[in-house]
Amino acid sequence: MTINNKKSTLQAILQCKCPKCTKGNMFKSSALNMAKFNELNDACSVCGFSFRPEPGFYQISLFVTYAIGVAIFIIFGFATYYVLNDPPLSVYYITIITPAVLTTPWNLRYSKVLMLYAFG
Ligand SMILES: [Zn+2]
Repeated sequence: MTINNKKSTLQAILQCKCPKCTKGNMFKSSALNMAKFNELNDACSVCGFSFRPEPGFYQISLFVTYAIGVAIFIIFGFATYYVLNDPPLSVYYITIITPAVLTTPWNLRYSKVLMLYAFG
């Protein structure tokens, strides 16, 4: 934290806050709201920073989503291999696909957050 009570960039990213002021929420609802977890606010409610810089801005975030998904597959694949001592293939399906599906809302949200922090 800095002196003016502004969050660090990492804290702001993890909490899906505005990249400019680090206080306003980027998303309309929680990641646990399955109907609206990926809906962005149009602009920051604190400073007015636009969360939609240009039309189609977040289409490239699909590549970020893909990269995060691959990272989840690799991490859980290696964890399964080493922790369960190379179990049968069906165990890999469960231990890799389950966390990949369960983390999908956060994956989609953080890909947008990272896009906006990197290029917004
Ligand atoms: Zn803001």
